[in-house]
Amino acid sequence: MCEDVPCAFACPTKAFDIEFLKNEKGEVDINKARMGIVVVDYNSCIAHWGLQCDACVRACPLMHKAIYMDLKRNKRTGKHAMLVPVVDPEYCTGCGLCEHACPIDKPAIYVLPREVALGKIGKHYVRGWMEQKENVEEKIREREEELKRWRPKTPEEYLN
Ligand code: SF4
Ligand code: SF4
Repeated sequence: MCEDVPCAFACPTKAFDIEFLKNEKGEVDINKARMGIVVVDYNSCIAHWGLQCDACVRACPLMHKAIYMDLKRNKRTGKHAMLVPVVDPEYCTGCGLCEHACPIDKPAIYVLPREVALGKIGKHYVRGWMEQKENVEEKIREREEELKRWRPKTPEEYLN
């Protein structure tokens, strides 16, 4: 992709939010774009059949960050491991280069709007193995406060 994002500056309708693209140094950074997110159709991805393919990962400008190959047990043979593509929504810009590189007739990896493709986790779910200890404690405190404020609904409230 063009690193200086000329289309964002040229767009007459300001469809691209230049402020959103700025990094910590105030520079425009195309890797901050969130145009969509890719999803993988596991049934048609040949890597999930146990064949060797990593075209999508090699095409990605954020290779090993936005998308990487991960080990998976090959249940079909019971003996081998497979390398399959995994997308990290934290970094994927939705540029679609991986979709373009996928060698099968209709790509097994494709861009969707982020609102369509991504779920939303309730804030009471905590990934303790990923979060800093302080964050976990803060979330537990928030949850305790919520529980203190909780009261059963009155019959009138149930009716309304
Ligand atoms: S759309 Fe594909 S190529 Fe582009 S950042 Fe996401 S994973 Fe990488
Ligand atoms: S390029 Fe297509 S078939 Fe190959 S691993 Fe990626 S998604 Fe699967």
